[in-house]
Amino acid sequence: MKFGGTSVGSADRVRTVADLVRARRARQVVVVVSALGGITDLLIRGARLALARDAGWEGVAYEVLSRHHSTIAALVEGRSQDPLLAHLDGLVTELRSLYTGVYNLEELTLRTIDAIAGIGERASCEILAAALEAGGTPAAAVDARRVVVTDESFGRAQPLMEETGVRVRERLLPILDQGAVPVVTGFIGATRTGVATTLGRGGSDFTASILGALLPAEEIQIWTDVDGMMTVDPRVVPGARVIPEVSAAEAAELAYFGAKVLHPATIKPAVERGIPVFILNTLNPSAPGTRIAAGAGDDTPEPRAIAFKKGITVILISQPRMLMAYGFLARVFEVFDRHRTPVDLIATSEVSVSLTVDDPENIPAVQADLAGLGEVQVLRRMAIVSVVGRGFLRRAGLAARVFQSLREVNVVMISFGASDVNVSLVVAEDEAEKAVRLLHREFFEDGRG
Ligand code: ADP
Ligand code: ASP
Ligand code: MG
Repeated sequence: MKFGGTSVGSADRVRTVADLVRARRARQVVVVVSALGGITDLLIRGARLALARDAGWEGVAYEVLSRHHSTIAALVEGRSQDPLLAHLDGLVTELRSLYTGVYNLEELTLRTIDAIAGIGERASCEILAAALEAGGTPAAAVDARRVVVTDESFGRAQPLMEETGVRVRERLLPILDQGAVPVVTGFIGATRTGVATTLGRGGSDFTASILGALLPAEEIQIWTDVDGMMTVDPRVVPGARVIPEVSAAEAAELAYFGAKVLHPATIKPAVERGIPVFILNTLNPSAPGTRIAAGAGDDTPEPRAIAFKKGITVILISQPRMLMAYGFLARVFEVFDRHRTPVDLIATSEVSVSLTVDDPENIPAVQADLAGLGEVQVLRRMAIVSVVGRGFLRRAGLAARVFQSLREVNVVMISFGASDVNVSLVVAEDEAEKAVRLLHREFFEDGRG
């Protein structure tokens, strides 16, 4: 059972979570928990302030302390607060010294961000374990840096499954055997030599899937603040509907193209081992949720959901001499490869190629290297809007409906036909919501679709 930040945002919510876990103890449960809602953003904001030599980082450290402090005070009584408060003090002291280091050195590497960002999970995990104990459920807090072994790609580390499997057997199974609930920090891990890493933003889902795959679990439950995976983000379109069953391929595509409800890498380890993943609502636990499994869901060639992702950059490279030449695309991709910058969508013509990039980090360097290959244009603040479904190449008229519904939106780029399960378009960031609403209306509302 994985509980996201939205499920542990306040003392009341933590209590609700403890009740949910207790009610399911007839089966053996391993809990994975994210930081209290908003804490990871706050921790990273403090690091950026320290980097800018802005004394505001001190206020951030204080806010981290006081949010956890008040949650603990509302959850646990009297002297039983002491070990939790001592642990919290230790974490905030560590945080202050990391911020001071960033401030003094005026340097903030991905490795340092990982050490800072993981502090939220280390705090929430102790709090949830204590809340379980306070309600009479034996529980043990487990720091995932001792379990999830990763490579050294700070900021987006990949698990080393074999080594992690050994640790799962050594460190989680004995707790289960004693009849207790291991409460594991989501999001974080450590390299073979013990340096802290994170699995990327939203990575607690991934933790749940990695541990679920290795235990192995009967099923993986991702508990969040919505009734399941929906036809669109319900914050953007109130008429969003829950999808009862979805195939793993569609879920992965949706997550990758922006459905925040699931971390993009989540399902792979679980699905490869045939373990179903459920998305469930902490605030409405009796709702059936969404079941994700390899062949799940109906297989009619229809759209299943709309997703979108902002903060995209489009890069256009044109080279009239590319006409009839070969090797041009290879040289273009070689530049992205060299700067380790993944490309999402591509469109080409005889003399030009446009691509989208999600991560702005290396764009200036990429742009400089591409300049040798042709004329380069960079469009920032773009969004990818995707219609995700199944069997699109067998489905007549789908493209017409997509374009018909978007006739009032300026579409900058299109990727259609690259896969059977996805049609993606690029629009300006401030038109993304409008495009999403129009597409949702076309395919999922008014009794259509
Ligand atoms: P958690 O803290 O539980 O990990 P997240 O904020 O990461 O929660 O993910 C849940 C949120 O994802 C929902 O509140 C919802 O606004 C958003 N979301 C985006 N797309 C979808 C979708 N297709 N279905 C459901 N939720 C979505
Ligand atoms: N707390 C981490 C984040 O905000 C991980 C997660 O929520 O899954 O990204
Ligand atoms: Mg999440």
